[in-house]
Amino acid sequence: MFIVSIDEEICTGCQQCSEGCPARILGFNGEKAYVSGDATECMGCEACVTVCPSGAVSISEI
Ligand code: SF4
Ligand code: SF4
Repeated sequence: MFIVSIDEEICTGCQQCSEGCPARILGFNGEKAYVSGDATECMGCEACVTVCPSGAVSISEI
């Protein structure tokens, strides 16, 4: 099982991660990305990690 987290201190709000997440669990609050759905529904595809220009997204396997 994977869990996604976003460091809001680093996020620049580009929205690339939320637009690309196939599980639709990443959202955008107008300033920053955040985990808007169930973080444990992350599929571990790492699309968000790859696309993030600031290194704000991390995936953990539990
Ligand atoms: S690893 Fe994939 S499924 Fe998980 S949050 Fe990132 S884009 Fe979504
Ligand atoms: S891709 Fe990175 S910088 Fe852009 S909104 Fe997502 S977490 Fe923030």
